Formats: sequence, structure tokens, C-alpha cells
Amino acid sequence: MPRLAALPSRLAAAVAVAMTVAACAEAPVTGRQQLILLPEGQARQMGVDAYRQIKSEKGISGDPRYTQPVNEIGRRIADVSGQPGLAWEFTVLEDEEPNAFALPGGKVGVNTGLFKVAENKDQLAAVMAHEVGHAIARHSAERVSRQAIVQVGQQAIGSQYPGMADILAQASTLGLILPFTREQEAEADHIGLMLMAKAGYDPRAAVQLWRNFETLGGQRPPEFLSTHPAPGSRIANLQQIMPKALEEYARSRYR
Ligand SMILES: [Zn+2]
Repeated sequence: MPRLAALPSRLAAAVAVAMTVAACAEAPVTGRQQLILLPEGQARQMGVDAYRQIKSEKGISGDPRYTQPVNEIGRRIADVSGQPGLAWEFTVLEDEEPNAFALPGGKVGVNTGLFKVAENKDQLAAVMAHEVGHAIARHSAERVSRQAIVQVGQQAIGSQYPGMADILAQASTLGLILPFTREQEAEADHIGLMLMAKAGYDPRAAVQLWRNFETLGGQRPPEFLSTHPAPGSRIANLQQIMPKALEEYARSRYR
């Protein structure tokens, strides 16, 4: 985002109001300062509504080969998430695409197709903890907030400053195409690695999991890869925080 001083006064005022209204949030684990305008209750309600819709569209799997590990991992991750009060819910969805998601409010979905990539509980926990990382760091609300600021900016600027408006329009479009920013992805990896370790799952499995995704990406890249950074770059980041995660793993009350 441009510096306030470089912006026309109306936009600067709008952004300043937005920043004052928002309680500046802090991401768990990394402590990164966030600007979140969307009220928590509203985000949770959006999550609950979307979850209901996705479940009815895709269908729920009752296959214990899938539900047993997902429920066990979900329970443990929720337990160490620092947000035990959330109405956590873990559902296996009938979908061959290897993917998973976590919506605001602790609503987690795991596709049956993910079991083609995740070979064991530790690897499954790596994906689920990554998604829960996005949820507890409120990444969706943060992304929506950034877009809102961009839109406010576009309205305030109008046609007087076409150069600036173009730049902001591009930022807004990119924000819609890319589900999460690279910074948020790295943060979800970081939070996820710590969560899985704390929940008693071997954090080293995260590295193998991303390698499996890479192998699978041969002919037709899975959806997960198209919305996430290349496995190579994320593995390097994971290796950097691995020593801390292994300490957490050694201390886990589940071991
Ligand atoms: Zn992600």
C-alpha cells in the first residue's frame, strides 16, 4: 500500500478512519501485526454459512478410513490451537480433488482426494494444521479488509488520479485471483508446523507431504498447487523453523 502522505486527502482520511476503527490484530505464533476491518462475529457467520453450503453440495463421507484420522487430528489440533472455545467441526467431503480448507469459526473440510497425497496421519496433520493456521490467523478477514481499503481508495480517487486508480485496480484484481498472499501462506506454514508438532504429529512429515504434492503435479497440477507457493520454496522455509518445531514435538503431551 502507498504511504499515506502520497495519497489524495480524501483517501488518506478514509484509510485513516479505517485504521482507527480497526483494532489492530496480531497473528498467533508469528506475532505479525494485522489490519482487520471485518468484525470477528461477521466472519464466523460467513464461515458457518459457506460450510453448510459446501457440505450439502459435495456430500459428506462417513468412511471411517477417512473420518477416524480426520477427527483425531482435528480434535488434537483444535485442542492446541489456543482457541478451544471455537465451535470446531471437521468434515470429510466427497471430492476427488486433493485439497482441504478451514473457514472462519473453526469449520474445517478435508476432501477424500487428499488421501491420495497424504500417506499417513502425520502428513494429513500437516495439511490440516496449515489450513487451521489460515483460520486462526484470520487470513480471510484480513484479505477482505485489504480489498475494502483498495475499493474505498478507488471511489475516493475517481478519475482525477487515473494512474493511482489503475494501480489500485490491479491490486484489487490480484487480491481476488490469489486466494491468500504469499506472506499469509508462509505464515500458515509456520503456524501449521508448530500446531502439528504441539498436537504430537511429526513436523518432518510436512516436508514429505509437499514433495508428494510436487510429484502429483506432473500432468495436471492439483488445485492446491495452483493456489499455493511452489513446494520447493515452502520446503526451504519449513526447514528453517524445523528445529523449533522438533522441540515442540518432543514436548508434546500427546507423545
Ligand atoms: Zn494455504
